[in-house]
Amino acid sequence: MADSLKSRPSADVLIIGGGINGLATFRDLALQGVDVALVERGDYVSGASSASSHMVHGGIRYLENGEFRLVKEAVVERNRLLKNAPHYVKPLRTTIPIFSTFSGILAAPWRLLVTHGSGKPKERGAVLIKTGLVIYDTFSRDGGQVPRHSFVAKKRSLQRFPQLRKDVKYTATYFDASMHDPERIALDVLADGLQAGGDKARAANYVEAVGTAGDKVTLLDKRTGDKFDFTAKVILNVSGSWTDLTNDALGKNTRFMGGTKGSHIVLDNQELLAATGGNEIFFEHSDGRIVLIYPLKDRVLVGTTDSYADPSKPTVCTDDEIDYFFDLVRHVFPKIKLDRNQIVYTFSGIRPLPRIDDTAPGFVSRDYRIERDSLGKTPVLSLVGGKWTTFRALAENLADDALKELGKQRTVSTENLAIGGGRHYPVSKTDKEQWIAENRGPLSADRTSQLLERYGTRAAEVIRSLTDGEQLLSAAPGYSAEELRHLASTEQVVHLDDVLLRRTAIAFVGGMTAETLKQVAQAIADPLGWDADRVTSEINRATQLLHDSHRVLLGSPGVADIGNPEQ
Ligand SMILES: Cc1cc2nc3c(=O)[nH]c(=O)nc-3n(C[C@H](O)[C@H](O)[C@H](O)COP(=O)(O)OP(=O)(O)OC[C@H]3O[C@@H](n4cnc5c(N)ncnc54)[C@H](O)[C@@H]3O)c2cc1C
Repeated sequence: MADSLKSRPSADVLIIGGGINGLATFRDLALQGVDVALVERGDYVSGASSASSHMVHGGIRYLENGEFRLVKEAVVERNRLLKNAPHYVKPLRTTIPIFSTFSGILAAPWRLLVTHGSGKPKERGAVLIKTGLVIYDTFSRDGGQVPRHSFVAKKRSLQRFPQLRKDVKYTATYFDASMHDPERIALDVLADGLQAGGDKARAANYVEAVGTAGDKVTLLDKRTGDKFDFTAKVILNVSGSWTDLTNDALGKNTRFMGGTKGSHIVLDNQELLAATGGNEIFFEHSDGRIVLIYPLKDRVLVGTTDSYADPSKPTVCTDDEIDYFFDLVRHVFPKIKLDRNQIVYTFSGIRPLPRIDDTAPGFVSRDYRIERDSLGKTPVLSLVGGKWTTFRALAENLADDALKELGKQRTVSTENLAIGGGRHYPVSKTDKEQWIAENRGPLSADRTSQLLERYGTRAAEVIRSLTDGEQLLSAAPGYSAEELRHLASTEQVVHLDDVLLRRTAIAFVGGMTAETLKQVAQAIADPLGWDADRVTSEINRATQLLHDSHRVLLGSPGVADIGNPEQ
């Protein structure tokens, strides 16, 4: 796709950054018929958007920061996503174990009204949590997508969660939503934008905005090393925690960002998985931070941390963070045995938060704003902040600002627009069975169901590319070479790690060996025109990246020995 930018190096709008917010703005502008181009310096969704806690949530805990506007918008957007992307966004039963009745009551309004100081918050007691959940339910009322919360006392709490700490006083259960495959939602959003805009919507990964030439932006094609200049009437800087660094490349000195790092580990621990009873366990750790234990893809996601970070340096989950995660699991499930050999994957990212001095990381606003500047006469709009959950509303706001700069009007609303494979998605059991019967082609019903789960109704396109001789790979369970070839041919795959980390969940669920990399690389070599040398260099690149960024040691249980590189 970089070639299409080089051959026509101009557009009405240039978007810098292909995380969820850049991609959603791309889709929105393409739908309005705007000539739009997007560049992403790595793979799509390889920044913060691939490091989230996988929650589509209103953010109940932001209520105590006084962020009512954000929570309301996020709850409305959560409800919309449940309708517009039902293939990837599902209701998530969330349970809060509570160990005190009144704590935090005095601390909460103080924090809300007076200060977001760096002191450790008081434990949040039952009354405070109940109040928050009532407000949260009120915000949810419009959409009616999820049931109201419930509160149960100790006895029933322990019946439902027998592994919970015995001094639990109550459990509160409410619904938010989960996104099992954030990267795939983002790829659907991109595909929708490309389809809606035709020749007028172009997006390229592995292309970085590196400088300026007059009021043009200099782009670097990282596959070839070529540089070229690109003209736009409006520039949108949507580069997340790197927004100031991108502005620096554009010759602007901004200090908008003050992102915080967060890590997660993925555990293959069946006892812990069973202890959650299929609920996300969302609670306050002993240091006052809100953390989670979350069943996902037959694994357990544990997160997250929150500390100021330098976006110019790579982030990785450290040994100290792993200790913290084990500690937080023991805080609620003290009897469950944990072992580093159960960690199958780790990931880490920087939240693109606004710079706010003198505020504890957990209390920095999660809301977003748009800053205006210019490059010569070309307006440059920088996005500051922006969660995953609110991407549609945020993109609508940013696209509206860009349309205003262009003197154009919005013609299409994205409010009720289905996303990718969420279009005509069969939600009920009967509708699913019918969809499978009509679309299975040469495949078994089970395999068709697996693909429907994985791609929504876009599974029909995948199925058309498969034959009845389709063989599942022995070293990447659940995936066939033909399926991976289809992804490589249609989803702008450049590197092997794009497939392992973002087109599929192969890396996330763990258990990868050298043979996995070999089989996947060989499956995609043909459509990507890779010879034997390229296959080898891609395997080496992926091996290194999995080790350095995700602590994955191929073929061995447990994480690579990395220590605490940031210290
Ligand atoms: C630990 C953690 C947990 C989170 N949990 C949740 C959650 O559960 N729910 C939720 O709603 N939100 C969550 N978030 C927040 C959410 O993930 C982010 O706010 C969101 O993904 C930001 O998207 P973005 O597109 O703005 O930024 P990013 O995804 O970071 O995208 C910016 C992109 O710009 C690219 N880029 C940078 N410089 C350039 C350049 N010069 N040229 C071209 N491209 C460039 C980068 O490579 C990057 O891909 C979490 C975040 C973290 C880190």
